[in-house]
Amino acid sequence: MTSPATSATGAPDLPDYAPVPAIAKGAALNEHGYHVWQVERNLYAVTDNVYMSAFLTTPDGVVIFDAPPNIGHNIRRAVDEITAANGLTNQVTHMVYSHHHADHQGASSLFGGDIVRIGHEETRRLLLRDDDPARPVPDVTFADSYTLEVGGERVELAWHGPNHSPDNIYIHFPDHDTLMFIDVVNAGWIPIYNLNLSDDVIGYTGAPAIALDYPWTHLISGHLGRVATREDVAMHQQYIADIEASSREALASVNPGPLFGHYGENVWAGVSAYLDAVTEHAAAPVIAKYTGVLGGADIEVYTRTTTFAIMQSIRLDRGPSGPVHP
Ligand SMILES: [Zn+2]
Repeated sequence: MTSPATSATGAPDLPDYAPVPAIAKGAALNEHGYHVWQVERNLYAVTDNVYMSAFLTTPDGVVIFDAPPNIGHNIRRAVDEITAANGLTNQVTHMVYSHHHADHQGASSLFGGDIVRIGHEETRRLLLRDDDPARPVPDVTFADSYTLEVGGERVELAWHGPNHSPDNIYIHFPDHDTLMFIDVVNAGWIPIYNLNLSDDVIGYTGAPAIALDYPWTHLISGHLGRVATREDVAMHQQYIADIEASSREALASVNPGPLFGHYGENVWAGVSAYLDAVTEHAAAPVIAKYTGVLGGADIEVYTRTTTFAIMQSIRLDRGPSGPVHP
């Protein structure tokens, strides 16, 4: 960690954090910088300990689920490594998009134009909008659900409403005891800024319960170094529930009157003072509770921004936003 004494070398003066808890540790990476492992039977996951992708090997070809540019060409290396070891074809025939975000699909063009690309109809619409050559638009789309059958294997895709993004789907492998659901739960870590950079607070906070409605033992959640367990999802739900409870308590207990009074006609300064005070009051006990328990919990801006988003959703979505003027 850089100290002020060495910042003259040009390195930024970076904060120190507690050691990462054991629950948050990833895998050892190989010389290329990836780790690939068998999740269940012929379903494999590959990670660089930041991003995670998955693939299914079958006698008829390989199906890839997400292609994060962070892993990039290592997805191909991992497929080649596993198919060679099992005497199967390394031909990629299908790619499934969990959602349209470039950080999970930006290497999908590496697999060429000759494969079947499957995604939600909203993923197609958003990719047409974004017009990114690195993310070819899916040609097979669905509205509610789609069953993919390749090489004797079955995968069930379903959309249950917006959450992290408008198009984020649930990918169930019923014969592999696995669910793939990206960018909501992080195994052993808290979400990053603003509920993992999510669009829909109510959709995001309700999604883990939908995920738990599926039968599975392994959850491929798109980030970090290991698959999640049902206990990881429960811990995530508790973290979010703690923020919700703390936000309600802070909204009820922080008095805006003196803050608005202090700033007088500068009402936007009063709004900022009030919302910042509510956020700080709500986030502080959650940061204290999860530091040393979940990875990233002492990076306070993560819990603060997630708390701000949840507190605003309590005001704006759930209501009431405040007392009605008499
Ligand atoms: Zn995303």
